[in-house]
Amino acid sequence: MEQEIKKQNNAPMLPRTNVLPVIPLRGKVAFPHTAVTFEAGRQKTISAIRRVMGTEDKLVFICTQRDIDKEDVTTDDLYAVGCVARMEQIAQLPGEVVRVTCKGLYRARTRAMREEGGHFVAVTDEIVTVADEGTLTEAHLRMVKSLMRVMSTFEGKLPKELSTEMNLVESAESFVDIAAYTMKIKVEQKQKFLEEAVLTERLFLLERCLSQEIEIAKIEKKIAGDVRVNIDKAQKEYYLREQMKAIRTELGDEREEDEYARKLQEKGLPVDLEEKCLKEVERMKKMQPSSPEYNVIASYLEQVLALPFTEETEDTENLQTCIDILEEDHFGLEKIKERIVEYLAVLKLTGNMNAPILCFVGPPGVGKTSIAKSVARALNRKFVRMSLGGVRDEAEIRGHRRTYIGAMPGRILYGMKNAGSKNPVFLLDEIDKMGKDVQGDPGSALLEALDPEQNATFRDRYLEAPYDLSKVLFITTANSLETIPTALRDRMEIIEVSGYTLEEKTEIAKRYLLPKQLRANGLQARHLEMAEEAYRFVIEGYTREAGVRSLERTIGALCRKVAVKHASNPRTRKMKLTVKEVQKLLGAPKFMLDESEKEAQIGAVQGLAWTSVGGTVLTVEASAMNGKGELKLTGHLGDVMKESAQTALSYLRAHADLYGIEDETFKNTDIHVHVPEGATPKDGPSAGITIAVALLSAFTDKAVRRDIAMTGEITLRGKVLPIGGLKEKALAARRVGIKNVIIPKKNLKDIETFPEVLKKEVRFIPVEDIAEVFSNAFTENVTVGIKRMPARVSERVQDSVRS
Ligand code: ADP
Repeated sequence: MEQEIKKQNNAPMLPRTNVLPVIPLRGKVAFPHTAVTFEAGRQKTISAIRRVMGTEDKLVFICTQRDIDKEDVTTDDLYAVGCVARMEQIAQLPGEVVRVTCKGLYRARTRAMREEGGHFVAVTDEIVTVADEGTLTEAHLRMVKSLMRVMSTFEGKLPKELSTEMNLVESAESFVDIAAYTMKIKVEQKQKFLEEAVLTERLFLLERCLSQEIEIAKIEKKIAGDVRVNIDKAQKEYYLREQMKAIRTELGDEREEDEYARKLQEKGLPVDLEEKCLKEVERMKKMQPSSPEYNVIASYLEQVLALPFTEETEDTENLQTCIDILEEDHFGLEKIKERIVEYLAVLKLTGNMNAPILCFVGPPGVGKTSIAKSVARALNRKFVRMSLGGVRDEAEIRGHRRTYIGAMPGRILYGMKNAGSKNPVFLLDEIDKMGKDVQGDPGSALLEALDPEQNATFRDRYLEAPYDLSKVLFITTANSLETIPTALRDRMEIIEVSGYTLEEKTEIAKRYLLPKQLRANGLQARHLEMAEEAYRFVIEGYTREAGVRSLERTIGALCRKVAVKHASNPRTRKMKLTVKEVQKLLGAPKFMLDESEKEAQIGAVQGLAWTSVGGTVLTVEASAMNGKGELKLTGHLGDVMKESAQTALSYLRAHADLYGIEDETFKNTDIHVHVPEGATPKDGPSAGITIAVALLSAFTDKAVRRDIAMTGEITLRGKVLPIGGLKEKALAARRVGIKNVIIPKKNLKDIETFPEVLKKEVRFIPVEDIAEVFSNAFTENVTVGIKRMPARVSERVQDSVRS
């Protein structure tokens, strides 16, 4: 074996041929002019290394394998061109692995290769570099250098070895080899450098590689730039916050978190809650202030700090002062005032709020809300109001857990926050309008808030800690008792507030509404005065309500019109509003009794109904026509009312003889009952007698008195049953000028509590049997015969006729 090894630069002219052990290299290409280091562990490699160790010149042929992942290679798996190298160092690593350092000497091509003694052996022919030391190489070299300089402007792109080498290039040949070995390019590309015999071609290859790498570096830089813009922004914020913290510390200011901690400690929170909040503050300290989590905690702490825990107002000591204030603010409402004074007295004596919740029930505009406000004023407490109308979701009362995005405490705590004291008067308006759906029952959450047994530890989901509501004076309002959940109703003491009479309304208008509206419109008593009869005219002509809300609005409208006159001419004299003047300012009255309607009518009867907005007068119409004995009901009647109509008709059929109606008539007559005023919900058991009168009138063509209205339920046997809401109904009748009202006898006791004017102006006709109703309602006698069958019923009917 030829053993002569020379340095490349003084290589002999004849290409060298050697037979050398082969080391297959993975993922790397060995080049002349470089020190090649690799780790070897495969059997074939170790065997080849052992063989080389035994030789004097330590020469080896290093070839790269085509497939980096292949463990057990054959001769075909290796590139034909490799590098002849001298093995210079071997270090044993843990396991069967050795680290080998070789010095690359020259390029060589495999002429033949076989396996021998556990490794490959190759016959190799040197590839002699075709170098032209002239201008072309120089030109290429300059080009390469300038490209390298460009490349060096991209940080980390040019291998360190190359930037040093660039300055002390010994020869173009070694420079290209070092470049090809160190540059981060693909193995296939490196192999091309190795296989190329012509130096200028290698330089050209290098130029191409460098240009390509520069392009890639440019794109990378742009992408990195875009990414950095975002990172920079976050970093900037971070630095600014850090600086802010530093400045705060420098100025002796507190850190945000410390400020929270201090405020929490000063707040006088319940121990558990304070501990919990301070823990949250500790968590905040470990967070980036810009993180969403930090802000969630911060807003939680803000909410806690905004709630009253120890803040309390002092109640008015003097009971008489309370009474005076209640009197001052409202006319009448004696029952409420009386009850509130009792309440306050007990509260004063016991210091204990463990009393039932008050619930004011009555039509709108009767002062339920405003008296609650007045209670707060009388007691010197804060006042908060929350409307429950349309609340369907339990979370509205109790809040959402903090894990929800944008979570907030529920409305109860929101109210407490607004009150800013632990003991406000808390008005829960429209408790009867509360809904219920799949999201949970707000009623049960409310129950927990209202129940004195439980409300010292009311749980709001957001707060996650019990909150004491026991010092709150809850007052609720409702228009009707029926839709209040029973469990809630049981916890409350119901105080009914009914509508006002004309006289009461006049007093309220005179004493409260007018002065209030004068003030609201920047007027004084010297600007406007209202004549006595003008009040009545406004009340009767422009409003039709149980309360005084539209009355207040109408007076407000009058005041505004007067204000315009005074504002446009300051010398305008005091205006005295007479009926004429009111009509001039407000236009024709909206509600006036239609004179034509005052005449007795066939098939039209005035019934009295109770609705959540007070009492109302409804006309029930009935009309008989040829047909097949069908009963048609229109006017959006509820089920109860439909049944009343059926009952009334059956009664008439059973007693047809008595009223002179032929049996045949029922068979060949269709009857239509209609209750106009579509917008009013009509149900309830009080229209039975009205429908019966309308039916009889339609069958017999006899006229019904127009100055009479009625209310009462009818049984199949013609008995009249008591009804509710009589006061509202009577007031409604009086409002429209009806002087006679037929009522069930069992309702007589209600009349005792009615205002005197009502008792005086309306004649109440108590009845027990439908026959009495008929004898009062018609303009003429309707009973013409005597009922024959069935015996028992007939006896009773006759009894009632007699009585
Ligand atoms: P409600 O809550 O019953 O619907 P409000 O309390 O809103 O009624 O009352 C409507 C208006 O009428 C308020 O301005 C109130 O002050 C006034 N008002 C009602 N009743 C009286 C009264 N008895 N005395 C004085 N003002 C009254």
